[in-house]
Amino acid sequence: MQKFSGLALLKRALGGHQGWQPQWRSPEPKAAYDVVIIGAGGHGLATAYYLATVHGITNVAVLEKGWLGGGNTGRNTTIVRSNYLFDESAGLYDHAVKLWEGLSQELNYNVMFSQRGVLMLAHNIHDVQSFKRHVHANRLNGVDNEWLTAEECKDFCPPLNIDAATMRYPVLGGALQRRGGTARHDAVAWGYARGADARGVDIIQNCAVTGIRRGPDGAVTGVETTKGFIGAKKIGVVAAGNTSVVMQMAGLRMPLESYPLQALVSEPIKPIFPCVVMSNTIHAYISQSDKGELVIGAGTDAYTSYSQRGGLHITTHTLDAICELFPMFRRMRMLRNWGGIVDVTPDRSPIIAKTAAPGLYVNCGWGTGGFKATPGSGHVFAHTIATDAPHPINAPFTIERFRDGFLIDEAAAAAVAH
Ligand SMILES: Cc1cc2nc3c(=O)[nH]c(=O)nc-3n(C[C@H](O)[C@H](O)[C@H](O)COP(=O)(O)OP(=O)(O)OC[C@H]3O[C@@H](n4cnc5c(N)ncnc54)[C@H](O)[C@@H]3O)c2cc1C
Repeated sequence: MQKFSGLALLKRALGGHQGWQPQWRSPEPKAAYDVVIIGAGGHGLATAYYLATVHGITNVAVLEKGWLGGGNTGRNTTIVRSNYLFDESAGLYDHAVKLWEGLSQELNYNVMFSQRGVLMLAHNIHDVQSFKRHVHANRLNGVDNEWLTAEECKDFCPPLNIDAATMRYPVLGGALQRRGGTARHDAVAWGYARGADARGVDIIQNCAVTGIRRGPDGAVTGVETTKGFIGAKKIGVVAAGNTSVVMQMAGLRMPLESYPLQALVSEPIKPIFPCVVMSNTIHAYISQSDKGELVIGAGTDAYTSYSQRGGLHITTHTLDAICELFPMFRRMRMLRNWGGIVDVTPDRSPIIAKTAAPGLYVNCGWGTGGFKATPGSGHVFAHTIATDAPHPINAPFTIERFRDGFLIDEAAAAAVAH
């Protein structure tokens, strides 16, 4: 695998940038693999990478119906944080943050992880109580989170309006996770793809899975695809908003609903916004990309759909909130918006688990907030597939919890999970 370094860059620059290798191969599928992963988003690619690097399983194919990273991974607003309320979630998301902290070095690929801090604003007494509860719970779990007064929020994020006289939703304070931040979404998919490919994993794009075959004992035997049948001893489904559709191919119903979630960016401007700010109550969040665009996120549409675009009223509502919180952005122009399909569970926590079909595993239900978990999710899902047993971190994230009542109810805890 070609190495990226300052020296390599200088050498290639002097040679007219000739000789860079493609980042990954474009192989034709083999007749069969030990493991087939359905979905080449960040989670699927990370799973393949850790299967190869941690478990030595390299006879793996990642099948993608479009282009790798073209799903929610390439559409998200890249907020990374781990200040979730419940112990199970804190364990999972902080496992991911710890992996993020060394990921560029691990992959030899700059994923531009920037721990610029995620500030969550409180606008009413309920918010204050809820965020203070989060701060205490997080600290007990060894996750950093601190309470800031409104003035301290303003010091941390100078563009923020805290003038209560001008606001429908005054800022009463905020919870700040300094280790939170953002990363470059495409680079995460590309870095994992490159790392997995170098270890022998076949990444096959433009290859939609159209069926899942099971033998007489119920165990999976392979997948039907637009490139023909591919045999597989084990199958990992990591298809985000399409998970229900794919699992239906194996005859399994999932506790998931798929919703459009959208985001938008402004015209690029000079660096002005130093952190990530989220407001769950008025449902808007904002950061600034390294290109200079303000990256703005909204809530999901209220109805289920597989369209990769959201309703206009959601965007205008979000921009109302952004203009109130940051009046200096009122005259900015928005450049483009887009949507993704997010798969939402009843308790807004993911499923990373074995299924009732032997050899079939599923990683889904990340809803509006799975990008932040990409390295941790891939790491524990690879463990689950390789050993046919969950890693202690993902053991609570079963499908059966919806039958047995052991919910991890982040929906009730935070109302939003970006
Ligand atoms: C607008 C928006 C903003 C978001 N903001 C944030 C955020 O700030 N922070 C955060 O943590 N998360 C955020 N998320 C959520 C995050 O993007 C997802 O949880 C995460 O990217 C899911 O990754 P994935 O690899 O599971 O899915 P994806 O990247 O969607 O990958 C799944 C892949 O499966 C493929 N696939 C589906 N069906 C088939 C089939 N039949 N055959 C072959 N391939 C198939 C798809 O084409 C897709 O590429 C946001 C999402 C959206 C849409």
